[in-house]
Amino acid sequence: MRYYSTRNKKAGVTFAEAALTGLAPDGGLFVPESIPPYSRAVQTSLGNMSFRDIAFETVKNFAEQEIPDAALGDIVEAAYPFAAPLVPVGDRLVLELFHGPTAAFKDFGARFMARAFAYLRRGETRPLHILVATSGDTGGAVADGFYGVEGISVTVLYPKGRVTPLQERQIAGLGGNISALAVEGSFDDCQRLVKGAFGNAELKKRLALSSANSINITRLIPQAVYYAAAAGKAFAGKSDAPEEASPVSSAFALSDSAKPAAKQPVTFSVPSGNFGNLVAGLYALEMGAPIRDFIAATNRNKTIPDYLATGYYEARFSETTISNAMDVGAPSNVERLIAQWSLAETRRMVRGVSVSDEDTRATIAAVHTAAGYFLDPHTAVGWRGADTLHVTHNHAGGALAVLGTAHPAKFAEIVEPLAGPAPVPRSLAKTKERTPRAAVIPAELSALMDVLH
Ligand SMILES: *Cc1c(COP(=O)(O)O)cnc(C)c1O
Repeated sequence: MRYYSTRNKKAGVTFAEAALTGLAPDGGLFVPESIPPYSRAVQTSLGNMSFRDIAFETVKNFAEQEIPDAALGDIVEAAYPFAAPLVPVGDRLVLELFHGPTAAFKDFGARFMARAFAYLRRGETRPLHILVATSGDTGGAVADGFYGVEGISVTVLYPKGRVTPLQERQIAGLGGNISALAVEGSFDDCQRLVKGAFGNAELKKRLALSSANSINITRLIPQAVYYAAAAGKAFAGKSDAPEEASPVSSAFALSDSAKPAAKQPVTFSVPSGNFGNLVAGLYALEMGAPIRDFIAATNRNKTIPDYLATGYYEARFSETTISNAMDVGAPSNVERLIAQWSLAETRRMVRGVSVSDEDTRATIAAVHTAAGYFLDPHTAVGWRGADTLHVTHNHAGGALAVLGTAHPAKFAEIVEPLAGPAPVPRSLAKTKERTPRAAVIPAELSALMDVLH
């Protein structure tokens, strides 16, 4: 499989090169030359396969022979010791993607990426520097995924004062091979600095640099896995019981909730910011997972819903909201969206919707009252977006599944006043005890260059 820059369809690179360089030399993002379909046998048995087996089959198609089967088996085994249950809540399903160590879905991409990098760089002696910009959740997941990986150091840039205390501890509380920079600016500034560093010839001569943002293809591909697994399950008429750390009020039994109708493709509602998660969903659909379509639900940062409505893409400044991991005015993955699908194709697969903070808050309160389930602010945007578009369970025969992108205990300052305290997963309780240590820098490339060595 060759990977091409979104800005140049001619110069293809291998999976390893696309992974380790992150961004194409012309500033574009790498995309696969084609989206490899699941075999018929895999497609029809997705509902009965383990998560790891689906992960293996998914990545194998994209990496082809560059990661041999035995190594790939080890990677997915080590990357996913936690579950992604599809839990019925009220009139729909929630795909809980927050049972990993940082309690957000980004663990799926980051944990695979760290292990894939370690494999692809075997035998290398020059250390690799990973630069990552975060609006909150990416940084923690990447820091945790790469923590202690030999020969790789990570620098996380986050907007100072705009991440939660818990996120700050996940990003800046590990130390070791993980450094944190609190940038005096917005997430877009952080992203601009990272892109600037990649475009800087002097720095590239000095350091082996790579990215770990959702612009990196190794973050994106493993995210297709949970869509395929969940769609397969729902298509088989199955769902899962809550896990121990599922955010359920003990007073409620979820057993009366809606069950997916068998033999019907699923609609996913995806809380979206940088749109990596949505693009990964489109990959799963094109690979042949039983998916009907997607709802791309954003907060007030509605660049993509506006693009879908008007046909014109216009990057904006990001606005601060209570779903801060989605405060993105200029989503990087729009380049992939536009390079891989026409506007008409995208409109057939994706409906856009924007949700206000006020409605997000009301949804957290209402779902807790009605169903005894705690939504984090991001998941609540996905939930409410489906309501706004009048998409309900079995609306067209198939189930509606909202992606639970973060555990509500991660955003306790917002959730607790609305719904009371959610149960806290053990990994988060431990993180709270860490002390964050970050250097503060102005939002200028020269300041970033000064601290990188
Ligand atoms: C990153 C993040 C999102 C947005 O995902 P994208 O792939 O950037 O669209 C949504 N919810 C949470 C909790 C996140 O951390």
